[in-house]
Amino acid sequence: MRKIEHIGIAVKDLETSNQLFEKLFGAPAYKTEEVASEGVKTSFFMNGPNKIELLEATNPDSPIAKFLEKKGEGIHHIAFDVENIEAEIKRLKEEGFTVLNETPKKGADNKLVAFLHPKGTNGVLVELCQEIA
Ligand code: ZN
Repeated sequence: MRKIEHIGIAVKDLETSNQLFEKLFGAPAYKTEEVASEGVKTSFFMNGPNKIELLEATNPDSPIAKFLEKKGEGIHHIAFDVENIEAEIKRLKEEGFTVLNETPKKGADNKLVAFLHPKGTNGVLVELCQEIA
């Protein structure tokens, strides 16, 4: 795993939170994208070298809807940049981590992604992401 790629924050209303984070960072989201397969709408902000992803649920079965129900708004996941996601999934499985999707899937912002179950990572949902070349 290399650097933190981004931090994901679950929000109830993307429009409202876009305005809030635009004020916080002094710059608007550089991208908004819906990932229909995950039931989320996302927006991305850059603040210096750091990237923040906001996630809103687009349907009640979305993992974000369930997260908001249980925990409310807040940090949802930490994403790490990896060079070879398949090799990293294999390595982490061998280390005993539970990988939620063993076949990487297409995520937002042109990435292949996989998630580790938070039960095995001290309650933190970890996302692995590899830039799609
Ligand atoms: Zn993410």
